[in-house]
Amino acid sequence: MDPDDPHFSQLKTSTIMLVDDEPVMLEIVQALLEEEGYRHFVAVEDSTQAVAKLVDANPDMLLLDLDMPQVDGFQVLQRVRELDDFAHLPIIILTASENPDNKLKALELGATDFLSKPVDPSELALRVRNTLSAKAYQDHLAYYDNLTGLPNRLLFIDQLDKGIFQAKRDDRSLVLLDIGLDHFRNINESLGVHCGDQILQTVASRLTRVLRGSDLVGRGDTSVQIESTARTGGDEFSVVLHGAKSVENASIVSRRVLEAIKQPFSLEGNDVHLTASIGIAVAPDDGDDADTLFKHAVSAKDFAKKQGKDRYQFYSSEMEAHSRALMQMASDLRAALEKNQFELYYQPQVDAVSGRVIGMESLIRWFHPENGLVSPMEFIPVAEEMGLIVPIGEWVLHQACHRASEWNAAGHKDLKVSVNVSANQFKDPGFKASIVSALLSSSLAPRNLILEITESMLMGDIDQLADLLREIKSLGVSFSLDDFGTGYSSLSYLKKFPIGELKIDRSFLLEVPANNDDNSIVRAIIAMAHSLGQVVVAEGVEEIEQLEFLRQHDCDIIQGYYYSKPLNQPEFSEYLAAQLEPPQECQSAAK
Ligand code: C2E
Ligand code: MG
Ligand code: MG
Repeated sequence: MDPDDPHFSQLKTSTIMLVDDEPVMLEIVQALLEEEGYRHFVAVEDSTQAVAKLVDANPDMLLLDLDMPQVDGFQVLQRVRELDDFAHLPIIILTASENPDNKLKALELGATDFLSKPVDPSELALRVRNTLSAKAYQDHLAYYDNLTGLPNRLLFIDQLDKGIFQAKRDDRSLVLLDIGLDHFRNINESLGVHCGDQILQTVASRLTRVLRGSDLVGRGDTSVQIESTARTGGDEFSVVLHGAKSVENASIVSRRVLEAIKQPFSLEGNDVHLTASIGIAVAPDDGDDADTLFKHAVSAKDFAKKQGKDRYQFYSSEMEAHSRALMQMASDLRAALEKNQFELYYQPQVDAVSGRVIGMESLIRWFHPENGLVSPMEFIPVAEEMGLIVPIGEWVLHQACHRASEWNAAGHKDLKVSVNVSANQFKDPGFKASIVSALLSSSLAPRNLILEITESMLMGDIDQLADLLREIKSLGVSFSLDDFGTGYSSLSYLKKFPIGELKIDRSFLLEVPANNDDNSIVRAIIAMAHSLGQVVVAEGVEEIEQLEFLRQHDCDIIQGYYYSKPLNQPEFSEYLAAQLEPPQECQSAAK
């Protein structure tokens, strides 16, 4: 055996426990093993103490004599195997007996191997080494992540528990960072698991690099130490900091981690960009056992994600209160449909040239019995997360189609209704059927239904998505791309999707026409959409100057407070009726 082999030198740090009632045997075995380079021993002469000492010392293997007074080797073996933590501890039986029944009995009780007394030195060395190698390999499989080589969750929780125990004993703090990669699922879905794996490996090495060294925060500042870094979930890593200034410096460490992850990942010639969200919990204040601390770090991370990602968040009781309020909202939302607390509002869409109302966007409102009006910006994300958006969206679709059909029947020819659709609805296998059902039951002509989707929904498998869109479009309905310019869509793949209309996001119009950069962007969007054969809608138009600019640059449809805020059904009916009575109202609207 090569004593310089790093694997073997690692084995030498193992703790070997010896239990034998003959002190001279203990001395001989220990001396032989010391000659081989082993350094940590727990020698027990009194077998009645064996199990208690074992639990205390947590050795890597046990060399056990069989023939002992009071409590013999069989009894020790049996008791050790009854302990969950030691069910797989390697145990080598040392025995002078040649009796095969004894060996059989020891095997049945869970002995790993046998050595005959008197002990042959080279046999001893070989057995111990082989047994420890096998255990080290098993430990590695059980406690380390295969992909990154970092400790896994099992080992991490164990280390965290010990760290918290020591921190409490020494009256100091321990900081846990829970690091989650943002949108990692998208990467796996769009680029494949192989690329996802490569990213995880790079993240692991970046974390190790960033967190290396005791002078992590300031040169020579040894007040923050990294106790361990682990992969604790699919796209989740955890780090423990300790030391006098660990709490003060947790933000600095977090910022470094965020920065390191933000560097582009180079995959097969392409740059992939990623961010992370970090939750921070401090022991003992935020939890004095590993499970509680971990849970709180995770909820801080979830909070950071909800706040917009790419940030860190300390666990706090206010954060908990906010999360509780969200949970309350989620449970209230469940009942809201049954209790008829939703109402659909409509905002007119006006032809930029003629000033005629050509359609309306349906916008949902929730009238909460205690909290009053809740904005869709607040409750739609919660409904999405809770899986409630599918039934809510179905209700919206039916309502919108029925009202539009009624208004069309009342003489407002070819009014189109735009309905906002969420990603989860889109992914739902029953989506197409619910569109068909809404159209059939309302008798709305399919050409008068427009489904508003957002750029973020167009990520992932582009070909598959384009097929799905085409399939739905074959019903005769059309698609509008909402909030255009706020997402990531590259112009080159926009043309792959059958999108008939593009809505310029309100944020681009805020400073139009005063801001020349914004003017250029808006003009460019209109030109691009027209070259792709798309209709352009401007949303959030409030001022006459905006309207004039948009008209001048050939924007097709205008929506915004300039014409009207979203109105409830009777108000919108009135608004429409006024349109049928020219001339004054119509002219004033088209000012
Ligand atoms: P959106 O689809 O982009 O709708 C436009 C939002 O801008 C609406 O907010 C509308 O009231 C507001 N708006 C329109 N004109 C103006 C204006 O001139 N000035 C200003 N300041 N705001 C204007 P709202 O109704 O609060 O809806 C917010 C978002 O909630 C919508 O953005 C949409 O993403 C979502 N949403 C609304 N209804 C539904 C729905 O039925 N289903 C789904 N999935 N999402 C919905
Ligand atoms: Mg919309
Ligand atoms: Mg919009």
